[in-house]
Amino acid sequence: MRRPVDLRSDTVTRPTAAMLAAMMSAEVGDDVFGDDPTVLSLQERVAGELGHEAALFVPSGTMANQLALRCQTRPGDEVIVEEYAHVFTAEAGAGAALSGVQIRVLPSERGVLEPARVEEAITPPTNDHWAPTSLVCIENTHNRHGGHVWPVESVTALAARVHGRGLRLHLDGARLWNAVEASGRPAATFAGVADSVSVCFSKGLGCPVGSALVGSRDLVNEARRWRKRFGGGMRQAGILAAAALHALDHHRERLADDHARARRFVERAELPADVVLPGGHPETNIVVIELPARLPVAAVLARLEEQQVRLVPFGGRLIRAVTHLDIDDEQIDYAAACLRDIVRTPVGVAG
Ligand SMILES: *Cc1c(COP(=O)(O)O)cnc(C)c1O
Repeated sequence: MRRPVDLRSDTVTRPTAAMLAAMMSAEVGDDVFGDDPTVLSLQERVAGELGHEAALFVPSGTMANQLALRCQTRPGDEVIVEEYAHVFTAEAGAGAALSGVQIRVLPSERGVLEPARVEEAITPPTNDHWAPTSLVCIENTHNRHGGHVWPVESVTALAARVHGRGLRLHLDGARLWNAVEASGRPAATFAGVADSVSVCFSKGLGCPVGSALVGSRDLVNEARRWRKRFGGGMRQAGILAAAALHALDHHRERLADDHARARRFVERAELPADVVLPGGHPETNIVVIELPARLPVAAVLARLEEQQVRLVPFGGRLIRAVTHLDIDDEQIDYAAACLRDIVRTPVGVAG
């Protein structure tokens, strides 16, 4: 039987032999004492590339996002986010549980928040009834909106508006390097205007574990204490940081291959443009497909699974496929052919 074509997420990659070799030869210390040289060098490199003073290596993107919330809000504050943002929909209510904030969600076009709409939603601290807004969070690329890249100009315009009102801006950049690859703009142009940025090494870059939070030296010092409190202090974490350094050197340019394969998947599956979000063509490595009513999500996914093709349900009538380091053209063509045959089937799929 064929090896499963696992398109559930870009988190499913296994470390390559070269990455494992880099991990095995990593120089390590104790990062809770702050003396793991490999972690220190990763933090310095990531902060520099993203145009910030400092960075903190953390176990997950969720922890990086939640540290950003914890350090830039007070309990009872309001945080403005796009309605399908990961920080709101996929972090187990952590904003409420760990920071005591309430989240106000705003609708958007393809995940990109309109500065005017954000401005209207800001609650000033001038009335005792109100929960004052302290933070706005954006996501680039936007996962639920099919890996859409926020244009640099939109990020800059929103940042100016948010800062003009004395608020802070957090960028969830779990897939920021995909945005960088797709747009050709340097990471710092997206990240430099935010007050804090989270990035994941465990997504498109193909690492087994690890994310980072970047920002000012003060923010990162405070986040370090909260990381300890949240149980995220790691000891010989240089083994993991070595994977991230290796990925930054070797797995960035190849993200273009993942993007090409996402487009190839849509073409070979012969999916009509109106069922692929956003706008008919994947921009990066995420393919979000809206199934027609005659094709129930669970039945389609089960039929694909029988053929060793794995996608995930993505809410409502949506399913998602993500290309990554462990997927080649042959696997994409096979998965696309399976999906094409299911979508072509005139009535139902189960029988
Ligand atoms: C994956 C992801 C995260 C973080 O996920 P972890 O599994 O906690 O590392 C954050 N934001 C977005 C948009 C993501 O896709």
